[in-house]
Amino acid sequence: MSKKVFIGGAWPYANNSLHLGHIAALLPGDVIARYHRKAGNSVLYVSGTDCHGTPITLRAKNQKVSPESIALTYHKEFSECFRKLNFSYDSYSLTHNDFHADFVKEVISKLFESGELYEKTEFQDYCENCHQFLSDREIEGTCPICGGHAKGDQCDDCLATFDANELTNKTCKYCGSPVSKHSNVHLYWKLSKYQHQITDYVSSHEHLWRFSAINESRKYLANSGLIDRAITRQLDWGIDVPVEGFDDKKIYVWIEAVLGYISAGKKYCEEHGLNWEDFYKNSSSLDTYYVHGKDNIPFHTIIFPALLMALNENYQLPNHIVSCQFLNINDEKISKSKGNGITVKDLLSEYSSDSIRYCLTYQAPELKDTNFTPEILEQLHNKFLVGEYGNFVNRNLSFLVKKFKGIIPVGTVDPDVISTIQEAYSKVGTLIEKAELRNAIQEIQQLVKYANKYYDEKQPWIQVKQDISAFNNTTSTCIALIVNIANLYEPFIPDSSNTVYNFFGISKPNWEYISVVPGATLNNVSILFTRID
Ligand SMILES: [Zn+2]
Ligand SMILES: [Zn+2]
Repeated sequence: MSKKVFIGGAWPYANNSLHLGHIAALLPGDVIARYHRKAGNSVLYVSGTDCHGTPITLRAKNQKVSPESIALTYHKEFSECFRKLNFSYDSYSLTHNDFHADFVKEVISKLFESGELYEKTEFQDYCENCHQFLSDREIEGTCPICGGHAKGDQCDDCLATFDANELTNKTCKYCGSPVSKHSNVHLYWKLSKYQHQITDYVSSHEHLWRFSAINESRKYLANSGLIDRAITRQLDWGIDVPVEGFDDKKIYVWIEAVLGYISAGKKYCEEHGLNWEDFYKNSSSLDTYYVHGKDNIPFHTIIFPALLMALNENYQLPNHIVSCQFLNINDEKISKSKGNGITVKDLLSEYSSDSIRYCLTYQAPELKDTNFTPEILEQLHNKFLVGEYGNFVNRNLSFLVKKFKGIIPVGTVDPDVISTIQEAYSKVGTLIEKAELRNAIQEIQQLVKYANKYYDEKQPWIQVKQDISAFNNTTSTCIALIVNIANLYEPFIPDSSNTVYNFFGISKPNWEYISVVPGATLNNVSILFTRID
């Protein structure tokens, strides 16, 4: 029976280019979305660009441009990268839009009216000269450890990190004036009251989560437990606070960005004549996947579900949590200060989308950190895509083109092969549903190996001279293997699958055994993958 599937890919933050670590974390969402569509389910796959918050305003100040222009520039870059990598989002949105802002304000108003929020006075760093409150990153001072010069929470000299409150002789980053403390009122959310409910939620859903999500969530709940958190921030870039007396503040980005899943899903449904309430709320036939990197886990396993509980509107809580570990580059963690993160833009200028997607699935940091180098990508491409899959397709089809004008012979497909293929659909499908994508892609590789072995054992190049009906049967069987392998690979490497479909005039196959019409002629047969040297 067809079901509804909601997939939320994490929202990349608009103050830097996308790097490979982002894509390694987000790619599973696209594979899962593509699979469920082929399996006949109604899929809604959303993500977008996270546009607000302090880092963007600081970058804007440094570059003397508006925060909006920073956010929109990166949004454009992200959209372009995802398009080139064949991400099949139903909606790739951004938090800097009116629909999202109105939705967030509506949520905050509801939470305020239902007593989930309260006002709290804090003493915050203030510059009398600039007439503004300062965030940690806008303060400089003396390091509490070595006495050197420190910026915000990190020392330039000894590189230690600490709480910015521990700095002495604090000065304003902009004008150098000494910093004083001023009282400031913020809105807080009673997150602490969800400790038990969230603990129950986590333990009842863990069997659907990746190991890192289980671990990080348990740690988060055990360490300090849930504490109330400020939802307003002293900023002039972001979404207005819909509560009186907070005109000079904006909604804190941590609570606003996760609401993007709901606002983007709702907007998509409204624009496509679908009923969002039916789709997402109160529905036993809805399955959900949330896909992100390790550093994003508590937002999806704790904050977001607690927010849905607080709203008390029958929103379904996240089911599958697909969070990955880190992808290292040349065995080193990706870090901004080292500048070793390979950008997606750079990689796309060298390699095809299929090669990148194949490598990032094969090397995916599903259970532990894994390593990426361009050499690994090239080796995998040459070994599996060129040497095994591409070679199998090519030796069968170019022979037909050369000797039979590309006409597909009339023969019987080996029934043992049919059942092997059908088994692969079932195994690979189950693995994708469980987000075990490395195992899924290896299962398809096994079928490709089996196909090459079948071809070598039957020796159709000899059969063609000795027993034409045996040749026709072997070739029909190999053709069945080719189209079905392409179909199985489509969620992972869609470009090459579409090329194979075009050879055979097949369009949009479902997740099931495909038969090829005998006697038809192949179209525009070409080499599927070329070797990278
Ligand atoms: Zn100042
Ligand atoms: Zn220091």
